[in-house]
Amino acid sequence: MIKIEHLSKTYTSHKGNVVALEDISLEIAQGAIYGIIGLSGAGKSTLVRCLNRLEEPTGGQILIDGQDITKLSGKALRETRQTIGMIFQHFHLLQSRTVGENIAFPLEIAGYKKNKIKPRVEELLQLVGLADKADAYPSQLSGGQKQRVGIARALATRPKVLLCDEATSALDPQTTVSILNLLRDINQQFGLTIVIITHEMKVIKEICSDVAVIDASKIVENGPVEQVFIQPQSAIAKEFISSVFPNELPGDLLRELATHADSEIIRIHFLGSRASDPIIADLMKDCQVRANILYGSIDHLRSTLFGTLTLELQGSKEQLAKAHTYLDERGLKMEVIQNGI
Ligand code: ADP
Repeated sequence: MIKIEHLSKTYTSHKGNVVALEDISLEIAQGAIYGIIGLSGAGKSTLVRCLNRLEEPTGGQILIDGQDITKLSGKALRETRQTIGMIFQHFHLLQSRTVGENIAFPLEIAGYKKNKIKPRVEELLQLVGLADKADAYPSQLSGGQKQRVGIARALATRPKVLLCDEATSALDPQTTVSILNLLRDINQQFGLTIVIITHEMKVIKEICSDVAVIDASKIVENGPVEQVFIQPQSAIAKEFISSVFPNELPGDLLRELATHADSEIIRIHFLGSRASDPIIADLMKDCQVRANILYGSIDHLRSTLFGTLTLELQGSKEQLAKAHTYLDERGLKMEVIQNGI
């Protein structure tokens, strides 16, 4: 488990101080795929680089399995770094080495014997689907293949944690999905804890179990992905979510709907099997309201179905109140967007 406590980082230069991280506290459970999302300049890279001390924190603690890595130096720090793999947006492969030699590199540094290195490299090539590319050079590979080499190299010394710094940001959408699927497979196969920083909500939606939203050097909210998607607290989280689940109604439609008497606009969120329940038909029958469907979407949040439905409900005050109770009793998260009564 990774426990970040009151972590701070201020960059000092002749131009002055830049606060990049302010009082960050997070717990990342063993085996989680933990996403950290934020806009450019929010502090994501600094945060992930503090986790393996590529960046020196200014204050706070980072406990990995109980050991405070901010206190380590020398040999102990080098050994700990071998338990934390990292992949990068621009891959950082050694261009003069073949794919096999790139993957062998961390094993050589860690002092593995030659006869142990070859079979381990073959095993890793197999794992990332590049068994036929051992002798190719990075320049001969596609972006997705380069990232697969990056992943194999990061996993070579069997780390407990894999840090991903915008690992799919340089890839096209299809390749992004294949890399994310590979990361999910590795997480499931080895129980490896994965920390992903990204500015793309799509990445969080595809594979993360938990998410923290960072804004202007502070964590503004965090929790299991389903919870944050269903009930986002911060404006920035809502904005990120609407990038993958758009749900804004056109302004002129909202204005027109506002003129309707005895009606309100609500948005319902569905998760899991509820997404396939005939909620609307039952709502209309049981509460005698009329429902006008304005917008609906359904997609996957990891492997769970996640849907939103925006409705205009028409009925008396009592009927609308009954509809709220009906949805509430069924555990459906609902918000009133506009009240026309
Ligand atoms: P993100 O990864 O979310 O884009 P960063 O962690 O790279 O954010 O940067 C956070 C803030 O710290 C930004 O204001 C950035 O300009 C600043 N920063 C990052 N690295 C340095 C550095 N080496 N020296 C000074 N300021 C830096």
